[in-house]
Order: sequence, then C-alpha cells, then structure tokens
Amino acid sequence: MGTFERTLVTSALPYANGRIHVGHLAGAYLPPDIYVRYLRMKGEEVVFICGSDEHGVPITLRAMEEGVGPQEIIDRFHTANEAAFAAAEIDFDIYGRTSWPEHHELTQAFFLKLLDGGYIEKQRIQQYYSEKVGMFLPDRYVEGVCPKCGGDARGDQCDHCGTTYEVTELREPRSAVPGDGTTPVLKDTLHWFLRLDRFQETLGDWLEGKTDWRPNTRGGAMSWLREGLRSRCVTRDTEWGVRIPLDDPDAEGKRIYVWFDAPIGYVTNTKVWAERSGRPEYWSTLWQDAGTRLIHFIGKDNIPFHAIIFPAMLLGQETYIRPDVVVANEYLNFMRAGRAAAEKFSKSRGAVIEVRELVETFGPDRLRYYLTAIAPETADSEFSWLDFFHRTNGELADVLGNFIHRTLSFGAKNLAGEVPPAGTLGEADRATLAAIAETREKVGGLLDRFQFRHAQAAMIDLARVGNRYFDDRKPWVTRKQDPAQCATTIHVCLQLAAGLARLMAPFLPGGAGRLAAMLGIEGPQSPGSWARIGEEGLPAGRRFEKPKILFPKLEPGDVPEASTD
Ligand SMILES: [Zn+2]
Repeated sequence: MGTFERTLVTSALPYANGRIHVGHLAGAYLPPDIYVRYLRMKGEEVVFICGSDEHGVPITLRAMEEGVGPQEIIDRFHTANEAAFAAAEIDFDIYGRTSWPEHHELTQAFFLKLLDGGYIEKQRIQQYYSEKVGMFLPDRYVEGVCPKCGGDARGDQCDHCGTTYEVTELREPRSAVPGDGTTPVLKDTLHWFLRLDRFQETLGDWLEGKTDWRPNTRGGAMSWLREGLRSRCVTRDTEWGVRIPLDDPDAEGKRIYVWFDAPIGYVTNTKVWAERSGRPEYWSTLWQDAGTRLIHFIGKDNIPFHAIIFPAMLLGQETYIRPDVVVANEYLNFMRAGRAAAEKFSKSRGAVIEVRELVETFGPDRLRYYLTAIAPETADSEFSWLDFFHRTNGELADVLGNFIHRTLSFGAKNLAGEVPPAGTLGEADRATLAAIAETREKVGGLLDRFQFRHAQAAMIDLARVGNRYFDDRKPWVTRKQDPAQCATTIHVCLQLAAGLARLMAPFLPGGAGRLAAMLGIEGPQSPGSWARIGEEGLPAGRRFEKPKILFPKLEPGDVPEASTD
C-alpha cells in the first residue's frame, strides 16, 4: 500500500425496488462501515458514500406490476432503505439518489466525454421486439429456457447454473412485460456502445499489479479480461433513466443503460455531499487527486462492473483516479430449520430477513456482531436463527458482556465505584495489560487487510483474556486475604474494559458508547482514539457507574426457529 492523504469508500448502490435484507448488509455495507469507523478513530480523512440506484429494470418491472409510476416505487424504497441503514448504524456521509438532476447532468457529461474520445459509438443490432406491447425488450424483459442447463432463465443470465449469454441464445424466449408473455421477434435497431476493447491493455497492466486484492476479486476480473473485452451497449429502450444527451432521432425512446449511470452515482453523491458540507470543490480532490485512495465494497456479482467497466469509464474521462482496492464479498445465504441446504434470500420464496425488522426486534449490536462473525469473505456463508441465538448469547453476552459486567459489578460493590490504584504489578498483571495494545495491533492489522471476521474475533479474544485473568486472580478471595492484590486485579480488569470500549467501537458502536458512558470515557470513536487503546487507560480515582447489562441474553423463545433445537 502506497502513501495516500485521504480515503474515499463506496458501498454498492442498492436498487430502490425492495427493502434491504441481512444478506445485502453482510456484503457491501457492514464491512465498509467498520472499516470507515476504524480509519476515523485513527484520525484519517475518510468519506463514505452510498445511495439508491433508481434506474434499474427491476424498478420499472415492479412499477408495472403495481400499476404505479416508477417515481412512487423509488420514493418508497429509497426512504425505507435509508432508514434501515441508519437503524443498523451504517454511518454513510451521504445516502444519495440517482434520480437527482445533478446525477443526470453528470452522467450525460461522462457519456459525452467518452463519445468525444471515440470510446462510445453507434452500432446497428438485432433486438427482441414485442409486437403485442409495441416495444423493444431490454434483456431483463425477456425470459426463457437456459441454453446450458435447460432451467428457467432470465434474458442474459441463468440463476440456476450462473451462466451468462447473449439474449439471442436463450431458448423459447417470451416477453416478461407484465400482461404480455408473447414470443418476441428480432428486429434491427440502433444503440450506442462503449468500446471496452480499447481499454483492454491498460486495464490488464493495471490489474496485473493488484496482487493485494482478494483472489475472488482479481481472479474474477482477470477471467473477464482473458475472454477479451467487447463493446457493451450503453443505451436501452425505456422511458425511465438518464436521457441520451444528443439531438439524434435514433435516441428517441431510449435512455442510458443503468449499468452505465449507477457507478457514476458515487461521484454525484460525493459532489452533493461536498456542496452540502460547504466545500463544493472538494469532490474533485476526492475523485481526481492522486493522493486519494478509492475503495469499492461490493458483492461478487458486481466484480466486472467495479474492476473493469467503471475503471474504463474513469480512464476515458482522463482526469479521474481508479480504485486502489475493490473488496468483493461472497454471498450470505439462509439456512432454514429443517432444510437440507442453505438457499438464497428471496422474498418470493418467503426466505427473507429484512434489516429493519431484525434491528427492531434484536437491536443493531446483535445484528452487526453476528453478520461480522459469519461474514462471507472468502466463501459463501449461512445465516441461521439457531446460530444467531448461540453466537450472540455465547460470545457477545457470555464472553464480552460477562467480562464487563463482573468487573464493574465487583468494583462498584467492593471498591466504592472508583478505579483503584495499580499497586504492585506482577507478571500476570503486566502480561494482561500488555494484551490490550497487542490486541489493538492485531485488530488494526486485520482491518487493514479487510479481514473483518478475524478482526472481530481478536477483539472478543481480549475479553476472553480478561475472563481467564479474573478467574485466575480470584478477586472475591483476595478481597479479604490480600486487599492490595484485589485492587490491582480490578485495576487491570478496568483497563481492559476501557480498551474494549474503544476496540469494540468500529464493530459495535452502540455497545461501545454505552460502555464508554459507564466508564466515563469520552468519545470512544473520536479521531485519535485508536492510538490511545492500551496507552491511555482509566486513572486511579476515576468514578464509574454501577453497570447495566451491556448485551442482555436472549431466551430460545425470543428467536424464530431457535426453540426447535
Ligand atoms: Zn442454466
């Protein structure tokens, strides 16, 4: 990793056509939120961008199904998803919208710049047309039979076997426009194409150097490159989306394709954020100055867009930087009780857990803890209610919560709620104190490498060290036999608690705030607080509160499917 002055972090823009579920959260939203909080605690300059993708085909399909306009759909789900992210304590600097006029203008500017450079050109193609509804059908409006496995498939991709193909290869095509279902016919039409082939060599050289990326991300991008980059259609037949900024009769009835405008949303949202922050020029520093480190967090289905297509679009603008790192997560699936295998989260199959719903019932700490503990970093992983129950009770409550609670209760009851002096430190005391800074180094190193699962586990391990130390030193015995040693033990435990309040903060900001308040620590998440972990503890004489339980335990009946064990 080279030197940089600031970091710009983006999370994939979710479609505003449905409510976000825990599978989404685990991939592209919770990990960057943890990372951004960590950088802020280190005192680094960082901006965190997300927002709704409001031009996707699923939005217009849903609008047609409901018999309403697309605007009604995007207003509903933009608002709902922004609230769900806030409830899960995902702290974006801005949650923008691709329906904003600023976004339409910027997308058109990107388009025109690429057109001027000869990177976008008009081509004649054959496309499916429904005579019944009188319209050309974008790929997602066509359904049929997969040419490879014979399963039901979408226009250009099969969800059963994962194959992608040209829509003309699909067998038994039919229109997916609600109320249509007829067999479409192929007709000539004109569209604009992005000449990705012209970026093949530059992108190849660039990706060659990205050896620190996760293997899934770099490997996925490399395999695309090896197949040879082809022209990609930038426009489609629809009335919903960004207008083609050309006075050309062929542009009629067509808009810019959503894959093209969506990633530009990162730039738009940065611009709007900068304006609102009173630093309108700062967006260009973030996107065009080589001192910025740009990091995209995405799901694995988005790898080609963020590792190849968007970088090509940025290259064609000439003044923009490209991402330093693209962090792609695998999928989180849903393991329901009594099922033989995990399945994809799917509303239509009744297999869905909405973020808002889960937070309202169980709070953000449990959600964040569990999703990080099972984060799909290197392989797909599974959400199960039973596992949620066991891990939040067994680790969050029994290890972390218990250590805090026994330390503070003992101190409140036997040491008048004041931090006792350190006294004479023995070897075990010193080793335990040293574990705080060691854990800071370990957790920081893992977060630097985007290993969130291991990083959180290392944080919990410090509470395990604390519990073992508490058990070994037996303060309930030394309280009478050796009060000085008892005081030392609780002094050490309180320093661990203070370290944990800060170490927890990126993962469990709510719990960290409650613990910090009990200990009288100000701003556990403030800039510079990371360096204080293990260096600046609680001074002797500091008063602390009688503890409230930090993470109450769940009963089996509280959790769906947990009582079936
Ligand atoms: Zn298939």
